[in-house]
Amino acid sequence: MKMNQFVIIGLGRFGSSLGRELIKLGYEVLGVDRDEEKVQELSHVLTHAVVADATEEEVLRSIGARNFDCGVVAIGDDIQASILATILLKDLGVKKVVAKAVSDLHGRVLERVGVDRIIYPERDMGVRVAHQLVSPNLLDYIELSKQYTIAELAVPQCLSGKSLDDVNPRGRFGCSIVAINKPKGIIIAPVAKDVLSQDDVMVVIGTNYQIEQFQHSIG
Ligand code: ADP
Repeated sequence: MKMNQFVIIGLGRFGSSLGRELIKLGYEVLGVDRDEEKVQELSHVLTHAVVADATEEEVLRSIGARNFDCGVVAIGDDIQASILATILLKDLGVKKVVAKAVSDLHGRVLERVGVDRIIYPERDMGVRVAHQLVSPNLLDYIELSKQYTIAELAVPQCLSGKSLDDVNPRGRFGCSIVAINKPKGIIIAPVAKDVLSQDDVMVVIGTNYQIEQFQHSIG
């Protein structure tokens, strides 16, 4: 299902950044916060921004929250308000409700009340930064499952000028280069004779262990 309209409850650091980015991407965003200053700040950025207490069912009804494809509860510090707003959005029939959690316990409660997706911004960013700090070539990664990952690795100088046949990560470690992003454009499903240059980005798929071994060999 394609999401077009978002309602964001809580315009703190996370909610406001999310709202700004969704607007940049061309989506419609209604922002809700009980703090008038926060709403003022974003009133010219978001499609609409209203001052309201999202723990009051009537308020959410009157702003038409149920008509939105996706609701994001971006309240962190006030856990009670976060949980109440999440339940209300679910009960109103918002198709997808995403909520930010500040702790494991907060996340567990959100899960129990039926939230569709939980985001742990600080915890997840801490994990990502740790991976990037210990692996200088690692630009970004997506965990496909507990075992499998897709990683974006910067091509270091030692691989510059080498073909995929020379580097041979599949034969040596079991992981595969599925794309090479070059300044001129991206090569999808590269072949053995394709050559890497420094600062190209390799997109590698494999198990965590295979990718780690490959990274160590080039890092
Ligand atoms: P962040 O860490 O992303 O800044 P905060 O928890 O500090 O998150 O901010 C959450 C925002 O949610 C604040 O701007 C606060 O005014 C707003 N907020 C908290 N409770 C409610 C509520 N019941 N209704 C609407 N907005 C709320």
